[in-house]
Amino acid sequence: MAYIEPAPIKDKENPFESMMFRFKIAAKHLGLNDEVYNVLKSPDKQVIVNLPITMDDGSIVVFEAYRVVHSNVLGPSKGGIRYDENVNLDEVKALAAWMTWKCAVVEIPFGGAKGGIRCNPRQMSAGEIERLTRAYTTAMLDIFGADTDIPAPDMGTGQREMAWLMDQYSRNKGFTSNGVVTGKPLVLGGSLGRMEATGRGVMISTLTAMEKLKINPYQSTCAVQGFGNVGSFAAQLLEERGVKVVSVSDVSGAYINENGINIEEAIRYRNENKGILDGFDGAEKIKGDEILTLPVDVLVPAALEDVITTYNADKIKARLIVEGANGPTSAKADDIITEKGIMVVPDILANAGGVTVSYFEWVQNRLGYKWTKERVNRRSDRIMRSSFDNVYKTALKYNVSMRIAAYIVAIDRVAQAYSYRGGF
Ligand code: NAD
Repeated sequence: MAYIEPAPIKDKENPFESMMFRFKIAAKHLGLNDEVYNVLKSPDKQVIVNLPITMDDGSIVVFEAYRVVHSNVLGPSKGGIRYDENVNLDEVKALAAWMTWKCAVVEIPFGGAKGGIRCNPRQMSAGEIERLTRAYTTAMLDIFGADTDIPAPDMGTGQREMAWLMDQYSRNKGFTSNGVVTGKPLVLGGSLGRMEATGRGVMISTLTAMEKLKINPYQSTCAVQGFGNVGSFAAQLLEERGVKVVSVSDVSGAYINENGINIEEAIRYRNENKGILDGFDGAEKIKGDEILTLPVDVLVPAALEDVITTYNADKIKARLIVEGANGPTSAKADDIITEKGIMVVPDILANAGGVTVSYFEWVQNRLGYKWTKERVNRRSDRIMRSSFDNVYKTALKYNVSMRIAAYIVAIDRVAQAYSYRGGF
């Protein structure tokens, strides 16, 4: 069995409180009234279910699963489903709220939600994961819906799980509903460009930030933590645009090559070796978390939450951090990073390319029409660039970090929509 890196030293922040910490700062800058603050600070709905699943050996194991709808003020709620052994309600609550802010930052008409099942998919067979996904879908039948709440993939899930979810939902409803979930395989109504969309948005955010910082991509270096959906596409697309990717990492460790890693080869190696880079000979292996403090221009954390913490923030040498993952920087580390003059393109902006193309997928499903990849990429690139510019201008206007500016933009939009719609 491959060596698995120990977990990083964390700030042990409750992820929901960490989200609220930034929310409060932005709300203060906006002069948000108490009424709207109280509505937005808590999720609309939190569902916890226990799913008894028959395992391949005949035993029955009960899995705890969640769906949290944070807000549907701007439209049906949208958010991925995570399969991971550390999933818990506070994490799902934070991720659901981040989805509300993320959709609002890029101005797409969705609210925010998130789901998760506490399980270790790496130790489960395809049959066990399928039964678990179908049980989860059945338990959430009253919540999911193309007009109400639309799931998508997140850590530990992909198009295979989304296909099962769509099928199970459709069987229960008695008609085929492909708009109920995004991130599906192409033949089931998936969108061209969806698979690479989050990594592509990370690439666009990186290049736009480099323009502001006057960094020439062709003379720059980059390190990417996480080599899954987000990290590997981000690395590949950055490499294509001239950035030298000197280090990548995954759960097995970090890999460094000062001449630049051949990302295509690394992806091929990963695909042929159970999804991890262990044994990859195109780079030298170093300790996993060393990737965060390498002397590079750009750091792209694209794996887990809470990896940039008070324990390592002052050692970071990158001039630009582009958050591919959700919540990679702890709230306590924010000030250290800002004081060091590092620009951070925050998660709710940097990784919004995924939800943007998910929205395009949903639009195509509703239209019963398929867009070309060029149209998908052109439109999502445009949204990513204009959202970046808007957040950048807001940061200058309020004299705040890009993170707080992104929250200001998002909360302002949701608050405005709420004040038009009103309460009971
Ligand atoms: P994934 O499961 O495809 O990949 C996760 C990667 O992280 C894998 O390479 C894994 O080996 C690596 N990893 C796990 N533990 C690690 C550790 N301790 N150190 C270094 N690497 C480690 O997941 P993904 O879809 O790429 O998601 C990654 C992050 O991006 C998550 O925070 C997710 O919420 C966020 N995100 C994903 C999407 C999307 O469209 N997939 C969209 C927005 C945000």
